Amino acid sequence: VTALVTPAPNQARVETDVLVVGAGPAGLYAAYYAGFRGLSVSVVDSLSEPGGQLTALYPEKLIYDVAGFPAIRGRELVEALVRQAAPFRPQYLLGEQARHMQRLADRITVTTEAGTCISCRAVVVTAGIGTFTPRPLPAGEEFLGRGLVYFVRDLKDFAGRDVLVVGGGDSAFDWALALEPIARSVTLVHRRAAFRAHQHTVNQVLASSVQVLTDRQVQRVSGSASVERAEVVHRPSGTVEAYDVQAVIAALGFTADLGPLTGWGLVIRDRHVVVDTRMGTGVPGVFAAGDITDYPGKVRLISVGFGEAAIALNNAATFIDPRADLFPGHSTETPAVA
Ligand SMILES: Cc1cc2nc3c(=O)[nH]c(=O)nc-3n(C[C@H](O)[C@H](O)[C@H](O)COP(=O)(O)OP(=O)(O)OC[C@H]3O[C@@H](n4cnc5c(N)ncnc54)[C@H](O)[C@@H]3O)c2cc1C
Repeated sequence: VTALVTPAPNQARVETDVLVVGAGPAGLYAAYYAGFRGLSVSVVDSLSEPGGQLTALYPEKLIYDVAGFPAIRGRELVEALVRQAAPFRPQYLLGEQARHMQRLADRITVTTEAGTCISCRAVVVTAGIGTFTPRPLPAGEEFLGRGLVYFVRDLKDFAGRDVLVVGGGDSAFDWALALEPIARSVTLVHRRAAFRAHQHTVNQVLASSVQVLTDRQVQRVSGSASVERAEVVHRPSGTVEAYDVQAVIAALGFTADLGPLTGWGLVIRDRHVVVDTRMGTGVPGVFAAGDITDYPGKVRLISVGFGEAAIALNNAATFIDPRADLFPGHSTETPAVA
């Protein structure tokens, strides 16, 4: 899937028809839909991976209520969405938070924290519950990308390695369980004695070969080129234990914050953006879809976000070109270009 996520060229200015803010399921489907409508599209997300909540919070969980899929893993749904959009070559700006928005004549300019300036004709805000920022490890941040990760991109990357998973929530336990048959060893470290993960998963991990260490915290990560060792302190006694590991997965959760979006002139009610039946926000050219939207009867689900993304994009297409039909035609008659 990484091969299909075409990064935007490393340039300070990007020109596109539609900018999608947020690469969760609604944003990825909006990217497909922009392409289907013949519009060029860029997708910006503060996370380094596409998939929003699915990637950050439950990549290994099965989802049962996506139309057409009796059961699909979060990770697999994200892969399928990226593949569906890929023929239209969306440009991805990952690891960049969208900060400022400005309307100038018939164009909208959005600037990211990295200084990239995206000039577009319409914006679709699919920012979910806001920017996800991984909670950092208390020590060892300098090894990020050199053995320390926040996401498991591909389980195979950990084949034959000694892995330390840090955290006591669902992600930590899901990853420990998924890696157990692949890695040489898996050790899970949690700073408390109680876990937040589902009891069923906790039981599965406890019954597996995963070594579970509680009341402990990583206090140092060391190595030359990449992670070789982690020092863990047993908090009640202060005893320090050293583990030879080649990978550390920090699964300490994420903070989410609407942050800069609150300054875009959108009507925000209880941390959500109020939209009309066109998914319009009231700011000309700015539409929204997915968990972030609010209207009477709103239901926050992936399937609802998909429908809203289609509504938002078709209305964005008529905003960009008022002569365009709102109805896109049937995809059966206009398949994606290869
Ligand atoms: C544990 C769990 C289980 C769930 N199970 C189900 C289920 O079974 N079925 C179901 O339908 N739903 C389920 N959900 C809910 C589902 O995940 C959400 O409805 C869905 O992810 C919303 O998609 P979205 O694209 O609107 O937003 P998100 O998935 O939240 O993605 C938004 C993205 O926008 C990015 N972003 C925000 N602000 C900015 C900014 N300023 N600049 C750049 N990027 C930004 C964020 O980093 C994030 O990646 C579950 C949720 C959780 C937590």
